[in-house]
Amino acid sequence: MSGEEAFAVRRRLSILGSTGSIGRQSLEVMAALGLSVGALTAHRNAALLEEQVRRFRPELAVLADESAARDLAVRLADTPTRVAAGRSGLLEAATLEGVDTVLTAVVGIAGAEPTLAAIRAGKDIALANKETLVCAGALVTAAAREAGVELLPVDSEHSAIFQCLQGCADRGEVERILLTASGGPFYGKDWQALSLVTKEQALQHPNWSMGAKITVDSATMMNKGFEVIEAMWLYDLPLERIDVVIHRESVIHSLVEFRDGAVLAQLGVPDMRLPIQYALTWPRRLPCPTPRLDLLRCPNLTFLPPDGENFPCLDLARQAARRGGVVPAALNGANEAAVALFLEGRIGFCDIPRLCQRAVAAAPEIPAPSLEDVLSADAAARADARSGI
Ligand code: NAD
Ligand code: MG
Repeated sequence: MSGEEAFAVRRRLSILGSTGSIGRQSLEVMAALGLSVGALTAHRNAALLEEQVRRFRPELAVLADESAARDLAVRLADTPTRVAAGRSGLLEAATLEGVDTVLTAVVGIAGAEPTLAAIRAGKDIALANKETLVCAGALVTAAAREAGVELLPVDSEHSAIFQCLQGCADRGEVERILLTASGGPFYGKDWQALSLVTKEQALQHPNWSMGAKITVDSATMMNKGFEVIEAMWLYDLPLERIDVVIHRESVIHSLVEFRDGAVLAQLGVPDMRLPIQYALTWPRRLPCPTPRLDLLRCPNLTFLPPDGENFPCLDLARQAARRGGVVPAALNGANEAAVALFLEGRIGFCDIPRLCQRAVAAAPEIPAPSLEDVLSADAAARADARSGI
């Protein structure tokens, strides 16, 4: 198939968070597909962004950090790429003309404003930045409906569900979604043992190589809690119809059970390049360089119920989603602050769920919040988590 035929839909992309784990793999996928790059953004890694700009020649490169952006501008003075900085730069990158799709690979709620701006500018979204849906799911899905743009999942579980739902025109035919969870490095440990784990241990994920924040979220199971909320918004299903099963081997990426009892699943080796590529080529499938699943060499597939007692974050996320409003944003804000404190060595692993519990308990009830409400709930929860240590 010619590149042209494959990309009747997606031709020019921007990546928000191009220097991260998803961002780097996305550039690799885009290079193989021959897609062109509109804008690249990152937080403050000028050296890597310079390298990416020299290779992919985007029109615009943005660093959120102003002084790193000045450094980048000097580094790129001999190139035609324009450099911008800060919030206005990120918003410009998100809405750049001539770009049809924005891949959001920023970590945390920092992705919310640019993602909403991209949607309102009519861009399809390839969404990795789950925190945006956790915090502002109602706003984001309403804006996407209004603008008539696609929200294409990059998260592997949500991509699996998306793949299983192809051809299902009536959501009423879906009985439930079953998200698989590896359980992270600590599954099977009790609270006492968990209180002693180190940051180095938390960063050793058994199956996936990812950014530090999501790796810690996987260890606490907060990542799966966030993914339940993400699935609720992406697939417009009530919480009660989204279940989680521990599947240590990460071969089945998630399942959909239909009302006739049929269960469809997507299987594969754990490699983010496939879900990234599917978000970019949907509804087509193209060759992908990921290693193939060999069933005869595959480990035995096992399934266990989640351990809610020692890993309370999953239920905490459900509780936040049930209350709605800004409660999930407060949970996310406290979690971002707590994970950062844990990575700085200032709190223990079990302090993460403790600080998150406190934020959920303290979160105000604000029905139908605006983005400003969401951002101020986030800021309050962060400040509270930092003062609570
Ligand atoms: P990462 O930490 O490796 O990369 C994050 C990127 O965001 C970097 O480019 C960084 O420069 C940028 N960034 C960070 N803070 C920023 C800020 N304040 N303003 C602007 N840019 C900022 O993270 P990652 O592992 O690539 O994850 C990115 C997102 O994708 C997260 O939401 C994560 O939950 C989701 N996700 C990741 C994986 C994975 O395999 N890594 C899988 C599924 C979902
Ligand atoms: Mg995932």
